[in-house]
Amino acid sequence: MRVLRVPPDFEVWRTMAREALREGWAPEQMDFQDNTVPAPMNLDLSSTESPQSRNIEHPFVPKTFLESAKLGAVHRDSDRWNLLYRLLFRLQRNRELMRVEIDDDVAHLKQMEQQVRRDLHKMHAFVRFRKIEEADAAGKPQEHFIAWYRPDHRIVPLAAPFFAERFAIMRWTVLTPDETMSWDPEAKALSFGPGVGKEAAPQEDELEDLWRTYYGSIFNPARLNPSAMRNEMPVRYWQHLPEVTLLPVLMQQAESRVATMVTRQSRQPSAAPFVPEEHTLPVLRAAMPSCKGCDLYKYATQVVPGVGGAHAPLMLVGEQPGDQEDIKGAPFVGPAGRVLRQAMEELGIVDSNIFMTNAVKHFKFVQRGKLRLHQNPRSGELNACRPWLAAEIEAVKPKVVLCLGASAAKSLLGGTFALMKERGVIKPTPYADQVLATIHPSAVLRARDEQSRDSLYQFMKDDLALAYSTALGKT
Ligand code: SF4
Repeated sequence: MRVLRVPPDFEVWRTMAREALREGWAPEQMDFQDNTVPAPMNLDLSSTESPQSRNIEHPFVPKTFLESAKLGAVHRDSDRWNLLYRLLFRLQRNRELMRVEIDDDVAHLKQMEQQVRRDLHKMHAFVRFRKIEEADAAGKPQEHFIAWYRPDHRIVPLAAPFFAERFAIMRWTVLTPDETMSWDPEAKALSFGPGVGKEAAPQEDELEDLWRTYYGSIFNPARLNPSAMRNEMPVRYWQHLPEVTLLPVLMQQAESRVATMVTRQSRQPSAAPFVPEEHTLPVLRAAMPSCKGCDLYKYATQVVPGVGGAHAPLMLVGEQPGDQEDIKGAPFVGPAGRVLRQAMEELGIVDSNIFMTNAVKHFKFVQRGKLRLHQNPRSGELNACRPWLAAEIEAVKPKVVLCLGASAAKSLLGGTFALMKERGVIKPTPYADQVLATIHPSAVLRARDEQSRDSLYQFMKDDLALAYSTALGKT
Protein backbone atom coordinates (compact mmCIF):
# COMPACT_ATOMS: atom_id res chain seq x y z
CA MET A 1 0.00 0.00 0.00
CA ARG A 2 1.36 3.42 -0.96
CA VAL A 3 0.53 5.97 1.74
CA LEU A 4 0.42 9.72 1.07
CA ARG A 5 -0.42 12.31 3.74
CA VAL A 6 -2.60 15.04 2.19
CA PRO A 7 -2.95 18.56 3.65
CA PRO A 8 -6.42 20.19 3.46
CA ASP A 9 -5.76 21.62 0.01
CA PHE A 10 -7.53 20.38 -3.10
CA GLU A 11 -4.76 21.54 -5.43
CA VAL A 12 -2.13 19.58 -3.48
CA TRP A 13 -4.26 16.43 -3.69
CA ARG A 14 -4.83 17.08 -7.40
CA THR A 15 -1.09 17.16 -8.06
CA MET A 16 -0.58 13.96 -6.03
CA ALA A 17 -3.46 12.23 -7.82
CA ARG A 18 -2.15 13.17 -11.29
CA GLU A 19 1.27 11.84 -10.33
CA ALA A 20 -0.24 8.59 -9.05
CA LEU A 21 -2.25 8.14 -12.27
CA ARG A 22 0.80 8.90 -14.36
CA GLU A 23 2.78 6.25 -12.48
CA GLY A 24 -0.08 3.72 -12.78
CA TRP A 25 -1.19 3.30 -9.15
CA ALA A 26 -4.58 1.60 -8.80
CA PRO A 27 -6.94 2.98 -6.08
CA GLU A 28 -6.70 -0.22 -4.02
CA GLN A 29 -2.92 0.30 -3.83
CA MET A 30 -3.23 3.88 -2.59
CA ASP A 31 -4.08 5.38 0.79
CA PHE A 32 -4.47 9.18 0.66
CA GLN A 33 -4.54 10.03 4.36
CA ASP A 34 -5.96 13.25 5.75
CA ASN A 35 -3.00 14.96 7.44
CA THR A 36 -5.29 16.96 9.76
CA VAL A 37 -6.03 13.61 11.46
CA PRO A 38 -3.12 12.31 13.61
CA ALA A 39 -1.08 9.66 11.77
CA PRO A 40 -1.19 6.09 13.12
CA MET A 41 1.77 5.22 15.39
CA ASN A 42 3.12 2.58 13.00
CA LEU A 43 2.77 4.67 9.82
CA ASP A 44 5.17 3.53 7.10
CA LEU A 45 5.44 5.91 4.15
CA SER A 46 7.79 3.65 2.19
CA SER A 47 6.26 1.15 -0.23
CA THR A 48 7.80 -1.93 -1.83
CA GLU A 49 4.85 -2.42 -4.20
CA SER A 50 4.96 -1.59 -7.90
CA PRO A 51 2.15 0.19 -9.68
CA GLN A 52 -0.31 -2.32 -11.15
CA SER A 53 -2.31 -0.24 -13.55
CA ARG A 54 -1.59 1.39 -16.90
CA ASN A 55 0.08 4.80 -16.93
CA ILE A 56 -2.28 7.69 -17.56
CA GLU A 57 -0.42 10.74 -18.77
CA HIS A 58 -3.40 12.95 -19.57
CA PRO A 59 -6.30 12.04 -17.31
CA PHE A 60 -9.87 12.82 -18.36
CA VAL A 61 -11.29 15.21 -15.72
CA PRO A 62 -14.86 16.28 -16.53
CA LYS A 63 -16.20 19.56 -15.16
CA THR A 64 -18.97 17.75 -13.25
CA PHE A 65 -16.37 15.78 -11.32
CA LEU A 66 -14.13 18.78 -10.74
CA GLU A 67 -16.92 20.88 -9.27
CA SER A 68 -18.21 18.13 -6.99
CA ALA A 69 -14.66 17.18 -6.02
CA LYS A 70 -13.80 20.75 -4.96
CA LEU A 71 -16.77 20.73 -2.59
CA GLY A 72 -16.17 17.15 -1.41
CA ALA A 73 -12.54 18.05 -0.69
CA VAL A 74 -13.55 20.36 2.18
CA HIS A 75 -15.79 17.74 3.81
CA ARG A 76 -14.49 16.35 7.10
CA ASP A 77 -14.86 12.74 5.95
CA SER A 78 -11.30 11.50 6.50
CA ASP A 79 -11.61 9.07 3.57
CA ARG A 80 -12.55 11.78 1.07
CA TRP A 81 -9.19 11.85 -0.77
CA ASN A 82 -9.39 8.08 -1.42
CA LEU A 83 -12.98 8.43 -2.66
CA LEU A 84 -11.93 11.21 -5.06
CA TYR A 85 -8.99 9.19 -6.38
CA ARG A 86 -11.19 6.13 -6.88
CA LEU A 87 -13.69 8.19 -8.87
CA LEU A 88 -10.97 9.89 -10.90
CA PHE A 89 -9.41 6.51 -11.69
CA ARG A 90 -12.78 4.98 -12.69
CA LEU A 91 -13.60 8.02 -14.88
CA GLN A 92 -10.70 7.05 -17.13
CA ARG A 93 -12.60 3.87 -18.03
CA ASN A 94 -16.14 5.23 -17.86
CA ARG A 95 -16.45 8.84 -18.95
CA GLU A 96 -20.15 8.93 -18.05
CA LEU A 97 -19.60 7.69 -14.49
CA MET A 98 -20.70 10.96 -12.83
CA ARG A 99 -24.15 10.52 -14.41
CA VAL A 100 -24.64 7.14 -12.69
CA GLU A 101 -26.36 8.45 -9.58
CA ILE A 102 -26.90 4.97 -8.12
CA ASP A 103 -23.17 4.24 -8.14
CA ASP A 104 -22.00 4.08 -4.49
CA ASP A 105 -18.98 6.33 -5.02
CA VAL A 106 -20.91 8.89 -7.05
CA ALA A 107 -23.77 8.88 -4.51
CA HIS A 108 -21.29 9.29 -1.65
CA LEU A 109 -19.63 12.29 -3.29
CA LYS A 110 -23.01 13.87 -4.11
CA GLN A 111 -24.08 13.47 -0.50
CA MET A 112 -20.87 15.09 0.74
CA GLU A 113 -21.34 17.90 -1.78
CA GLN A 114 -24.87 18.50 -0.51
CA GLN A 115 -23.71 18.61 3.12
CA VAL A 116 -20.97 21.11 2.26
CA ARG A 117 -23.44 23.32 0.34
CA ARG A 118 -25.74 23.28 3.34
CA ASP A 119 -22.87 24.19 5.64
CA LEU A 120 -21.96 27.10 3.36
CA HIS A 121 -25.55 28.28 3.39
CA LYS A 122 -25.58 28.18 7.22
CA MET A 123 -22.31 30.06 7.48
CA HIS A 124 -23.57 32.78 5.14
CA ALA A 125 -26.70 33.08 7.27
CA PHE A 126 -25.39 32.76 10.82
CA VAL A 127 -22.12 34.73 11.00
CA ARG A 128 -22.66 37.79 13.21
CA PHE A 129 -19.97 40.47 13.40
CA ARG A 130 -18.98 42.44 16.50
CA LYS A 131 -17.37 45.84 16.19
CA ILE A 132 -14.06 46.80 17.78
CA GLU A 133 -12.04 50.01 17.54
CA GLU A 134 -8.36 49.59 16.72
CA ALA A 135 -5.50 51.76 15.48
CA ASP A 136 -4.46 51.62 11.81
CA ALA A 137 -0.79 51.70 10.65
CA ALA A 138 -0.69 55.50 11.13
CA GLY A 139 -2.17 55.22 14.64
CA LYS A 140 -5.60 56.52 13.61
CA PRO A 141 -8.67 54.75 15.04
CA GLN A 142 -10.51 52.46 12.63
CA GLU A 143 -13.45 50.08 12.88
CA HIS A 144 -12.88 46.34 12.60
CA PHE A 145 -15.75 43.84 12.54
CA ILE A 146 -14.95 40.44 13.97
CA ALA A 147 -16.99 37.24 14.08
CA TRP A 148 -16.32 33.80 15.45
CA TYR A 149 -17.91 30.78 13.81
CA ARG A 150 -17.53 26.99 13.85
CA PRO A 151 -18.44 25.47 10.46
CA ASP A 152 -19.08 21.72 10.18
CA HIS A 153 -16.62 21.39 7.30
CA ARG A 154 -13.44 23.20 6.21
CA ILE A 155 -15.38 25.68 4.09
CA VAL A 156 -13.68 28.98 4.95
CA PRO A 157 -12.00 29.57 1.53
CA LEU A 158 -15.25 28.65 -0.25
CA ALA A 159 -17.31 30.96 1.98
CA ALA A 160 -14.88 33.90 1.65
CA PRO A 161 -16.08 35.35 -1.70
CA PHE A 162 -19.63 35.72 -0.34
CA PHE A 163 -18.45 37.83 2.62
CA ALA A 164 -16.01 39.80 0.45
CA GLU A 165 -18.85 40.78 -1.85
CA ARG A 166 -21.51 41.34 0.82
CA PHE A 167 -19.29 43.35 3.21
CA ALA A 168 -16.92 44.91 0.65
CA ILE A 169 -16.60 48.27 2.40
CA MET A 170 -16.02 46.89 5.91
CA ARG A 171 -12.77 45.74 7.46
CA TRP A 172 -13.72 42.33 8.80
CA THR A 173 -12.28 39.09 10.12
CA VAL A 174 -14.02 35.76 10.57
CA LEU A 175 -12.32 33.51 13.09
CA THR A 176 -12.88 29.74 12.95
CA PRO A 177 -11.12 26.81 14.60
CA ASP A 178 -9.67 25.79 11.18
CA GLU A 179 -8.73 29.05 9.60
CA THR A 180 -9.09 32.82 9.88
CA MET A 181 -10.12 34.98 6.96
CA SER A 182 -9.80 38.76 6.80
CA TRP A 183 -10.86 41.42 4.32
CA ASP A 184 -8.98 44.64 3.72
CA PRO A 185 -11.47 47.07 2.10
CA GLU A 186 -8.73 49.43 0.90
CA ALA A 187 -6.61 46.80 -0.84
CA LYS A 188 -9.82 44.86 -1.69
CA ALA A 189 -7.93 41.73 -0.68
CA LEU A 190 -8.69 38.61 1.31
CA SER A 191 -6.07 37.01 3.52
CA PHE A 192 -6.08 33.77 5.47
CA GLY A 193 -4.37 32.75 8.71
CA PRO A 194 -4.40 29.90 11.21
CA GLY A 195 -7.53 28.94 13.17
CA VAL A 196 -8.26 30.20 16.71
CA GLY A 197 -10.58 29.38 19.61
CA LYS A 198 -13.72 31.27 20.51
CA GLU A 199 -11.94 33.14 23.31
CA ALA A 200 -10.09 35.18 20.65
CA ALA A 201 -13.39 36.80 19.55
CA PRO A 202 -14.58 40.07 21.14
CA GLN A 203 -17.46 40.01 23.62
CA GLU A 204 -20.89 41.60 23.25
CA ASP A 205 -21.09 45.06 21.60
CA GLU A 206 -23.79 47.55 20.59
CA LEU A 207 -24.38 45.65 17.30
CA GLU A 208 -26.00 42.90 19.35
CA ASP A 209 -28.84 45.28 20.21
CA LEU A 210 -29.22 46.24 16.56
CA TRP A 211 -29.47 42.58 15.60
CA ARG A 212 -32.06 41.96 18.29
CA THR A 213 -34.15 44.95 17.13
CA TYR A 214 -33.92 43.79 13.52
CA TYR A 215 -34.79 40.19 14.35
CA GLY A 216 -37.72 41.28 16.54
CA SER A 217 -39.12 43.27 13.63
CA ILE A 218 -38.78 40.49 11.01
CA PHE A 219 -39.89 37.62 13.29
CA ASN A 220 -43.05 36.06 11.87
CA PRO A 221 -45.11 34.56 14.71
CA ALA A 222 -47.36 32.73 12.22
CA ARG A 223 -44.38 30.67 11.08
CA LEU A 224 -43.34 29.77 14.63
CA ASN A 225 -42.45 26.10 14.66
CA PRO A 226 -39.92 25.36 17.40
CA SER A 227 -39.07 21.86 16.16
CA ALA A 228 -38.50 23.09 12.59
CA MET A 229 -36.34 25.88 14.04
CA ARG A 230 -34.25 23.34 15.88
CA ASN A 231 -33.86 21.29 12.69
CA GLU A 232 -33.05 24.26 10.51
CA MET A 233 -30.87 25.97 13.09
CA PRO A 234 -29.49 23.26 15.40
CA VAL A 235 -28.60 24.42 18.88
CA ARG A 236 -24.87 24.47 18.06
CA TYR A 237 -25.48 27.50 15.78
CA TRP A 238 -27.30 29.45 18.48
CA GLN A 239 -24.04 30.46 20.15
CA HIS A 240 -23.33 32.72 17.15
CA LEU A 241 -26.65 34.57 17.27
CA PRO A 242 -27.41 37.49 19.58
CA GLU A 243 -31.11 37.34 18.62
CA VAL A 244 -31.44 33.97 20.37
CA THR A 245 -31.91 35.78 23.70
CA LEU A 246 -35.12 37.27 22.26
CA LEU A 247 -36.68 33.97 21.31
CA PRO A 248 -38.39 33.05 24.65
CA VAL A 249 -40.22 36.42 24.70
CA LEU A 250 -41.15 36.28 21.01
CA MET A 251 -42.40 32.71 21.38
CA GLN A 252 -44.58 33.73 24.34
CA GLN A 253 -46.12 36.57 22.34
CA ALA A 254 -46.53 34.53 19.15
CA GLU A 255 -50.15 33.49 19.68
CA SER A 256 -51.55 37.00 20.19
CA ARG A 257 -49.43 38.38 17.33
CA VAL A 258 -50.77 35.67 15.00
CA ALA A 259 -54.36 36.63 15.91
CA THR A 260 -53.61 40.26 15.02
CA MET A 261 -51.99 39.21 11.72
CA VAL A 262 -54.93 37.01 10.79
CA THR A 263 -57.36 39.90 11.32
CA ARG A 264 -55.14 42.20 9.26
CA GLN A 265 -54.49 39.65 6.51
CA SER A 266 -58.12 38.68 6.16
CA ARG A 267 -58.54 42.13 4.59
CA GLN A 268 -55.81 41.45 2.01
CA PRO A 269 -56.47 39.57 -1.24
CA SER A 270 -55.01 36.07 -1.39
CA ALA A 271 -55.51 32.86 -3.32
CA ALA A 272 -54.57 30.85 -0.22
CA PRO A 273 -58.16 29.84 0.75
CA PHE A 274 -58.71 28.48 -2.80
CA VAL A 275 -55.51 26.42 -3.07
CA PRO A 276 -56.19 22.75 -2.22
CA GLU A 277 -54.01 20.97 0.30
CA GLU A 278 -52.89 18.38 -2.22
CA HIS A 279 -50.27 19.96 -4.44
CA THR A 280 -50.38 17.84 -7.58
CA LEU A 281 -50.81 19.30 -11.05
CA PRO A 282 -54.22 17.70 -11.86
CA VAL A 283 -55.66 18.80 -8.49
CA LEU A 284 -54.30 22.35 -8.85
CA ARG A 285 -55.59 22.60 -12.44
CA ALA A 286 -59.02 21.49 -11.34
CA ALA A 287 -59.17 23.96 -8.43
CA MET A 288 -57.72 27.05 -10.14
CA PRO A 289 -60.83 28.16 -12.08
CA SER A 290 -62.73 28.70 -8.82
CA CYS A 291 -60.18 31.19 -7.48
CA LYS A 292 -61.46 34.58 -6.41
CA GLY A 293 -58.31 35.46 -4.53
CA CYS A 294 -58.17 38.94 -6.09
CA ASP A 295 -60.32 40.96 -8.49
CA LEU A 296 -58.58 39.89 -11.70
CA TYR A 297 -60.85 36.86 -12.22
CA LYS A 298 -63.78 39.22 -12.80
CA TYR A 299 -62.47 40.60 -16.12
CA ALA A 300 -60.36 37.83 -17.69
CA THR A 301 -61.79 35.13 -19.98
CA GLN A 302 -60.35 32.27 -17.99
CA VAL A 303 -57.61 31.27 -15.57
CA VAL A 304 -54.37 30.09 -17.20
CA PRO A 305 -52.57 27.34 -15.27
CA GLY A 306 -49.01 26.21 -16.01
CA VAL A 307 -48.24 23.50 -18.57
CA GLY A 308 -45.32 21.23 -19.34
CA GLY A 309 -43.31 18.30 -17.98
CA ALA A 310 -44.82 17.09 -14.71
CA HIS A 311 -41.32 16.65 -13.28
CA ALA A 312 -39.49 19.13 -15.47
CA PRO A 313 -36.08 20.15 -14.13
CA LEU A 314 -36.60 23.75 -15.30
CA MET A 315 -39.64 25.92 -14.59
CA LEU A 316 -40.14 29.16 -16.53
CA VAL A 317 -42.29 31.76 -14.76
CA GLY A 318 -43.68 34.65 -16.78
CA GLU A 319 -45.61 37.62 -15.49
CA GLN A 320 -49.24 36.89 -16.41
CA PRO A 321 -51.20 35.59 -19.41
CA GLY A 322 -51.43 38.00 -22.35
CA ASP A 323 -54.37 38.60 -24.69
CA GLN A 324 -53.79 35.37 -26.70
CA GLU A 325 -53.08 33.28 -23.63
CA ASP A 326 -56.27 34.52 -22.00
CA ILE A 327 -58.30 33.39 -25.03
CA LYS A 328 -56.54 30.06 -25.55
CA GLY A 329 -56.09 29.19 -21.84
CA ALA A 330 -52.40 28.31 -22.16
CA PRO A 331 -49.25 30.26 -21.25
CA PHE A 332 -46.72 31.60 -23.79
CA VAL A 333 -48.83 31.09 -26.92
CA GLY A 334 -48.73 34.77 -28.04
CA PRO A 335 -45.98 36.84 -29.71
CA ALA A 336 -43.72 36.83 -26.59
CA GLY A 337 -44.12 33.06 -26.41
CA ARG A 338 -42.82 32.82 -29.99
CA VAL A 339 -39.66 34.71 -29.03
CA LEU A 340 -39.16 32.37 -26.11
CA ARG A 341 -39.77 29.31 -28.32
CA GLN A 342 -37.17 30.56 -30.80
CA ALA A 343 -34.53 30.85 -28.04
CA MET A 344 -35.47 27.39 -26.74
CA GLU A 345 -35.14 25.88 -30.20
CA GLU A 346 -31.77 27.53 -30.79
CA LEU A 347 -30.55 26.09 -27.49
CA GLY A 348 -31.92 22.62 -28.24
CA ILE A 349 -34.20 22.70 -25.18
CA VAL A 350 -36.51 19.72 -25.00
CA ASP A 351 -40.16 20.54 -24.20
CA SER A 352 -40.55 17.75 -21.64
CA ASN A 353 -37.75 19.34 -19.59
CA ILE A 354 -39.70 22.57 -19.20
CA PHE A 355 -42.74 23.62 -17.19
CA MET A 356 -44.16 27.04 -18.15
CA THR A 357 -46.36 29.13 -15.94
CA ASN A 358 -47.03 32.69 -14.77
CA ALA A 359 -46.73 34.56 -11.48
CA VAL A 360 -50.33 35.77 -11.89
CA LYS A 361 -52.89 33.40 -13.41
CA HIS A 362 -55.45 35.86 -14.78
CA PHE A 363 -54.94 38.44 -17.57
CA LYS A 364 -54.88 42.07 -16.36
CA PHE A 365 -55.73 44.69 -18.99
CA VAL A 366 -57.52 47.95 -19.80
CA GLN A 367 -60.03 48.04 -22.63
CA ARG A 368 -59.28 50.63 -25.39
CA GLY A 369 -61.97 50.23 -28.03
CA LYS A 370 -61.58 46.70 -29.32
CA LEU A 371 -58.08 46.38 -27.90
CA ARG A 372 -57.24 44.92 -24.52
CA LEU A 373 -54.01 46.56 -23.39
CA HIS A 374 -51.79 44.65 -20.96
CA GLN A 375 -51.26 46.18 -17.52
CA ASN A 376 -48.55 45.22 -15.06
CA PRO A 377 -49.86 43.40 -11.98
CA ARG A 378 -49.56 45.33 -8.71
CA SER A 379 -47.57 43.84 -5.85
CA GLY A 380 -50.87 43.04 -4.05
CA GLU A 381 -51.91 40.90 -7.05
CA LEU A 382 -48.51 39.20 -7.22
CA ASN A 383 -48.79 38.42 -3.51
CA ALA A 384 -52.38 37.25 -3.84
CA CYS A 385 -51.54 34.78 -6.61
CA ARG A 386 -48.24 33.54 -5.16
CA PRO A 387 -49.85 30.56 -3.34
CA TRP A 388 -50.73 29.05 -6.77
CA LEU A 389 -47.19 29.53 -8.03
CA ALA A 390 -45.71 28.09 -4.83
CA ALA A 391 -48.05 25.08 -5.12
CA GLU A 392 -47.02 24.50 -8.77
CA ILE A 393 -43.35 24.64 -7.76
CA GLU A 394 -44.04 22.13 -5.01
CA ALA A 395 -45.88 19.84 -7.43
CA VAL A 396 -43.22 19.90 -10.18
CA LYS A 397 -40.16 20.22 -7.92
CA PRO A 398 -37.95 21.78 -10.61
CA LYS A 399 -34.20 21.93 -10.00
CA VAL A 400 -34.15 25.53 -11.26
CA VAL A 401 -36.78 28.25 -11.63
CA LEU A 402 -36.17 30.99 -14.22
CA CYS A 403 -38.29 34.12 -13.75
CA LEU A 404 -39.00 35.99 -16.97
CA GLY A 405 -39.29 39.71 -16.31
CA ALA A 406 -39.37 41.93 -13.25
CA SER A 407 -42.83 40.98 -11.97
CA ALA A 408 -42.09 37.24 -11.83
CA ALA A 409 -38.70 38.04 -10.26
CA LYS A 410 -40.34 40.22 -7.59
CA SER A 411 -42.80 37.46 -6.81
CA LEU A 412 -40.08 34.90 -6.00
CA LEU A 413 -36.95 36.95 -5.33
CA GLY A 414 -38.46 39.84 -3.35
CA GLY A 415 -39.73 43.34 -4.00
CA THR A 416 -36.28 44.96 -4.10
CA PHE A 417 -34.97 42.71 -6.88
CA ALA A 418 -33.26 44.79 -9.61
CA LEU A 419 -33.61 42.87 -12.87
CA MET A 420 -30.86 44.38 -15.01
CA LYS A 421 -28.38 44.33 -12.13
CA GLU A 422 -29.11 40.89 -10.75
CA ARG A 423 -30.25 38.92 -13.82
CA GLY A 424 -28.50 35.62 -14.41
CA VAL A 425 -27.51 35.17 -10.74
CA ILE A 426 -28.78 31.96 -9.15
CA LYS A 427 -30.16 32.48 -5.63
CA PRO A 428 -31.84 30.27 -3.03
CA THR A 429 -35.42 31.23 -2.06
CA PRO A 430 -38.04 29.74 0.26
CA TYR A 431 -39.84 28.45 -2.85
CA ALA A 432 -36.97 26.73 -4.68
CA ASP A 433 -33.27 26.29 -4.03
CA GLN A 434 -32.11 27.72 -7.32
CA VAL A 435 -33.96 30.73 -8.72
CA LEU A 436 -32.73 33.27 -11.24
CA ALA A 437 -34.31 35.91 -13.41
CA THR A 438 -33.94 37.27 -16.90
CA ILE A 439 -35.57 39.61 -19.41
CA HIS A 440 -39.18 38.86 -20.36
CA PRO A 441 -39.44 37.95 -24.07
CA SER A 442 -41.98 40.77 -24.50
CA ALA A 443 -39.18 43.23 -23.60
CA VAL A 444 -37.29 41.92 -26.64
CA LEU A 445 -40.33 42.69 -28.81
CA ARG A 446 -40.65 46.19 -27.33
CA ALA A 447 -36.96 47.10 -27.84
CA ARG A 448 -36.55 50.53 -29.41
CA ASP A 449 -34.15 49.47 -32.20
CA GLU A 450 -32.58 46.41 -33.71
CA GLN A 451 -29.36 46.69 -31.74
CA SER A 452 -31.10 46.74 -28.36
CA ARG A 453 -33.42 43.97 -29.54
CA ASP A 454 -30.40 41.79 -30.36
CA SER A 455 -28.69 42.43 -27.05
CA LEU A 456 -31.85 41.87 -24.99
CA TYR A 457 -32.48 38.65 -26.88
CA GLN A 458 -28.92 37.54 -26.22
CA PHE A 459 -29.25 38.32 -22.46
CA MET A 460 -32.40 36.23 -22.31
CA LYS A 461 -30.86 33.40 -24.29
CA ASP A 462 -27.68 33.35 -22.16
CA ASP A 463 -29.69 33.21 -18.92
CA LEU A 464 -31.96 30.54 -20.35
CA ALA A 465 -28.90 28.49 -21.35
CA LEU A 466 -27.45 28.87 -17.84
CA ALA A 467 -30.75 27.89 -16.20
CA TYR A 468 -31.17 24.89 -18.48
CA SER A 469 -27.66 23.53 -18.09
CA THR A 470 -27.83 24.02 -14.29
CA ALA A 471 -31.19 22.25 -14.20
CA LEU A 472 -29.67 19.32 -16.08
CA GLY A 473 -26.65 19.31 -13.75
CA LYS A 474 -24.29 20.30 -16.55
CA THR A 475 -22.60 23.26 -14.85
FE1 SF4 B 1 -56.85 34.00 -8.06
FE2 SF4 B 1 -54.50 34.64 -9.08
FE3 SF4 B 1 -56.66 34.90 -10.53
FE4 SF4 B 1 -56.23 36.59 -8.54
S1 SF4 B 1 -55.00 36.35 -10.39
S2 SF4 B 1 -58.13 35.53 -8.99
S3 SF4 B 1 -55.27 35.21 -7.06
S4 SF4 B 1 -55.83 33.02 -9.78
